[in-house]
Amino acid sequence: MTSHKINLCWILTVLMLSSCGKDPDLGTSPSSSVYDVRISPLTNLIVGIGNTISFSATPVDSSNQPLTVGIEWTVLNPTIVTIDGNGVATSLKAGTTTVIAKAGNQEATAVVEVWDAPPLDTYTSGEIYQGRNGYVEYIPGDLPLILSAPHGGNICPDEIVDRTYGSIGSCSSTGSDTNTDPLTRTVRNAFLQATGRAPHIIILKLARPKLDANRDVTEAAQGNLFAKNTWSEYHGFIDVAKDTISKEFGFGLYMDMHGHGHSVPRIELGYLLSKTDLQTINLDLTYMINKSSVKRLASVSGIDFTDLIRGPQSIGGLLEQLGIRAVPSDPDPAPVGDEKFFSGGYSTRRHGSRDGGLIDGIQFEHHFTGLRDMPSNRLLYANVLIQVLRTFLDVHYGWSIPAS
Ligand SMILES: [Zn+2]
Repeated sequence: MTSHKINLCWILTVLMLSSCGKDPDLGTSPSSSVYDVRISPLTNLIVGIGNTISFSATPVDSSNQPLTVGIEWTVLNPTIVTIDGNGVATSLKAGTTTVIAKAGNQEATAVVEVWDAPPLDTYTSGEIYQGRNGYVEYIPGDLPLILSAPHGGNICPDEIVDRTYGSIGSCSSTGSDTNTDPLTRTVRNAFLQATGRAPHIIILKLARPKLDANRDVTEAAQGNLFAKNTWSEYHGFIDVAKDTISKEFGFGLYMDMHGHGHSVPRIELGYLLSKTDLQTINLDLTYMINKSSVKRLASVSGIDFTDLIRGPQSIGGLLEQLGIRAVPSDPDPAPVGDEKFFSGGYSTRRHGSRDGGLIDGIQFEHHFTGLRDMPSNRLLYANVLIQVLRTFLDVHYGWSIPAS
């Protein structure tokens, strides 16, 4: 082995004109030259127990040049996480502690948090369940209905940097989605009042610059691990509600609650059918059913698809009969001209029945004035919606809300 080392040294000396003899540990720097240590990331999150996450650290000299000095990794509280020689931390229990990377006489610290979410099988109707830091709230219900509100939040924590692309929104205003949080809660409370039963509701309390839960995770969280975790919690809670309802009822309706600022004051119902689709006269084409978020209902109910989407007993038709404008509906079958229209987003695609499952989905885009602008109007609308959903469940799913 000695001769091999000498040969290697000689070859390197010739090829690179470097001196092997001066430093027996080729490529390492004296630990006394460490001026600072850079650690990354400064904060990290491990979700669940027994999971791992990596830190990295680079010692630098006084000119900020990286050095090849070994890193000694430790943690302040080794009952929360352990860390190995490569900076890989493993979670042991929920809590927050400090990771220390030491090189020479210098060290850097980072924070690691272990978030151990409550188990998914212990939910009780009417209890409030929150994700990490209360960014998401889930109140389970006992009706085959799920309402989610992704855009009504106003919490803007520093730990999540602002998103930089897509619909970024603002921390100071919920914009066109204003009051969709209290609207969703009002619908739940009104249901409880009227029927003794409640829909499941899932509310995102983070403001849109921090997370847009109605997008895929890439655009939604834009790489921030706290935002990604919140996104997973939000959709995880919806999945829990769907599973619960699927087991209990074998069907269900998911409603994604939004607000729009379009010029026509009417509710826009998103079945994943575009304005152009809705302008098609004959809507019961197979491909229209297959691309819609109520595909399962359309397939099993036997009702003509056009009637399901915009007949007198569609959601839109029932709303119109009770004095609230809606598109699509029998009086207003499709947006026309340059009228804007939301056809349904990520959550409607993911949680509706287009791609399978027992739960149908509709995106509800609400206009503002008279509907969600003040508490009295929210309550009026909630009671209309209860009547609409009561009839819709009865007519299309063959299920009546039991008398309380
Ligand atoms: Zn929205």
